[in-house]
Amino acid sequence: MVLAANLGFPRIGVKRELKTAVESYWAGNSTVEALQATAKELRARHWKLQAEKGIQHIPSNDFSFYDHVLDTTCMVGAVPERYNFNGDTVDLGTFFAMARGEQTAARDVVAMEMTKWLDTNYHYLVPEFEGAQNFALKSRKAVDEFKEALALGIKTKPVLVGPVSYLLLGKCKGADFDRLDLLPKLLPVYVQLLNELKAAGAEWVQLDEPFLVTDLTPSQQKAFTTAYTALKASGLNILVATYFEALGDNLQTAVNLPVQALHIDLVRAPQQLDAVLNALPADKSLSLGVVDGRNIWRTDLDKALAAAEKAVAKLGKERVIIAGSCSLLHSPVDLAEETKLDAEFKSWLAFATQKLEEIATLTNALNKGVASVSAQLETSRNAIASRSSSNRVHNPAVKQRLAAVTKDMANRKHPFAQRREAQVKALGLPLFPTTTIGSFPQTPEVRKYRADLKRGDITEAQYNAAMEEKIRDVVTYQEEIGIDVLVHGEFERNDMVEYFGELLEGYAFTKNGWVQSYGSRCVKPPIIFGDVNRPVAMTVEWTAFAQKLTKSWMKGMLTGPITMLQWAFVRDDQPRSETCRQIALAIRDEVADLEKAGIKIIQIDEPAIREGLPIRKADWAAYLNWAVEAFRLSASVVDDSTQIHTHMCYSEFNDIMPSIGAMDADVISIETSRSQMELLESFEEYKYPNEIGPGVYDIHSPRIPSEAWMVDLLKKSIRSLDAQQIWVNPDCGLKTRKWAEVKPALAAMVNAARTMRKEVAGARTAAE
Ligand code: GLN
Ligand code: ZN
Repeated sequence: MVLAANLGFPRIGVKRELKTAVESYWAGNSTVEALQATAKELRARHWKLQAEKGIQHIPSNDFSFYDHVLDTTCMVGAVPERYNFNGDTVDLGTFFAMARGEQTAARDVVAMEMTKWLDTNYHYLVPEFEGAQNFALKSRKAVDEFKEALALGIKTKPVLVGPVSYLLLGKCKGADFDRLDLLPKLLPVYVQLLNELKAAGAEWVQLDEPFLVTDLTPSQQKAFTTAYTALKASGLNILVATYFEALGDNLQTAVNLPVQALHIDLVRAPQQLDAVLNALPADKSLSLGVVDGRNIWRTDLDKALAAAEKAVAKLGKERVIIAGSCSLLHSPVDLAEETKLDAEFKSWLAFATQKLEEIATLTNALNKGVASVSAQLETSRNAIASRSSSNRVHNPAVKQRLAAVTKDMANRKHPFAQRREAQVKALGLPLFPTTTIGSFPQTPEVRKYRADLKRGDITEAQYNAAMEEKIRDVVTYQEEIGIDVLVHGEFERNDMVEYFGELLEGYAFTKNGWVQSYGSRCVKPPIIFGDVNRPVAMTVEWTAFAQKLTKSWMKGMLTGPITMLQWAFVRDDQPRSETCRQIALAIRDEVADLEKAGIKIIQIDEPAIREGLPIRKADWAAYLNWAVEAFRLSASVVDDSTQIHTHMCYSEFNDIMPSIGAMDADVISIETSRSQMELLESFEEYKYPNEIGPGVYDIHSPRIPSEAWMVDLLKKSIRSLDAQQIWVNPDCGLKTRKWAEVKPALAAMVNAARTMRKEVAGARTAAE
């Protein structure tokens, strides 16, 4: 019989119960017992739900109080020394100290580093390894949760991060070494745990090895074989799960691992099915990831069924498993919560709960025949047909406009050197011009105005008046402290993507479509469902209002097309590059309107450009090509003397410098203060030609930097770059900071710029 399987369920709870419970515990408002009770309740609810929906391989240990990679670090006892842990079982206090850092009398430690889980927006805590690293079983969470489910009458499939991916997810501390050298020491811990799971009654275990879809060296490939040969002894049935890409050149390694089943992602990489079917040895089952675990669209069941039938024809029912493409961790929990979406639109969607139903339907179709699920197939067909032909999705005018885009539209009128001349003349800025990244503190007062407007407690006119008041204050403040290029403060924006999405056609928003981003933090990505169009100007009124208040330059603030795409659930019926270009045209219109309204400096933020990079290096060039092109399309409509800025933060840019250069923004502001300007070395090496504002104020910390510290950073910057190139600004927007921090920090920043001007002496000149 074909089996219905799930790789992981969202842990946060349909009402974000886990977030509430964990944050209340952190704040000291509830006990550890209350926290554990909520966790237990959520686990039980999710197991029962999956059983009810007809899932046979129900995951356990997919729950976590913060992050499942951190759970793995605890499991193998790789707690870094600074946490002073030497017990038998990692306690919750140590766990949260690793996750968030701690500042108490007992312990004053920073958190572990956090980074993105492959190409998703989920962040995991990066394991830290030393050359002399030892491992020992220090958490039996996987065993405990298996037993907990068993007591409820549900025999689950425990999920673990596989040993090779675990090591590859980590970082070496101290002298560099090959992390996979640690494998012989790590494997006995996994063996011990698998033995304990077996003893507790487990039959199947899922080991996630997403690194099997990444670029691997031959010795890394071999490590997988070594690892799974060692794990075989446990006698458990092992499913190795891969996702987010095709196995590609790791195919032979993957199919020949001494395990019982292999999971492949057929949503991201449907083309790999034939190759895998041909290569799979006769003793192995294949788990088909045909229901998208990372997006919110209803599955085309006919299409999924066709792939599954092909697999059944080749392997037989006993060797086929139907599953989501990856863990449903990346999907919102339940569409039933969306009471505000209309019926037609809702019929196009499936959240985690609905995806379980889809998996069960497909499995039943294979086991009992399509007639047994004819009603479900019919509903699916109707929804797919309605979505593909709806005029809510398709806007002929947008498609025509896109088809008419010419190469020239992505080029500024003249090269940077010439533009700079025009801008130096038109803008009259001093050396080391000061500016900020856009937002000023979003105080509870500001957020309350928005909430009041939403609830209808104040009128739109009252809301607008309140925002204008805020803008007036922040303009006066910036003038008083002597900032050169002002911003209006972004008070009217809830979020840099949502604000624009709400004003664009082709976007929809959920009420409760939360997805875990990291720890207790969840995000609610907008849904791009149709052709994107800008019916009205989005920022011109606010920006022009702010410009009229001052003689200084007011910078227009926009979110760029790549970031708008990257931080949303994107339609899957056309290439992402096409959707990105549609957004680029909408932003381009806004840029043109801002220029027309007299705005001479326009910033287009692209903090998400780096995270859009494909998993496989071979695909980077194609992505960077269309991403850079989309940015240029959005920016290139303006005259030479209008200055285009962009902003990027918190990623490593070293390996994409040529593309950052190719974006051809006149000015880029970028995170550097944490790394003490290290990043500037790559700008120097690459000979970055345009202007650059290396962030001198780390806004992700409550710490207030001194003038001397910023001067020091700026001096470092002119060692790598020309003083004529340098702007002075914070790392990122100030919206999460308090005014009490922002005021002294920005005053010091302006003084730092003044000091630098004296130091370098001279004017901003066009010629270099
Ligand atoms: N302009 C935005 C702000 O200042 C940029 C935010 C970001 O880079 N994430 O808030
Ligand atoms: Zn930023």
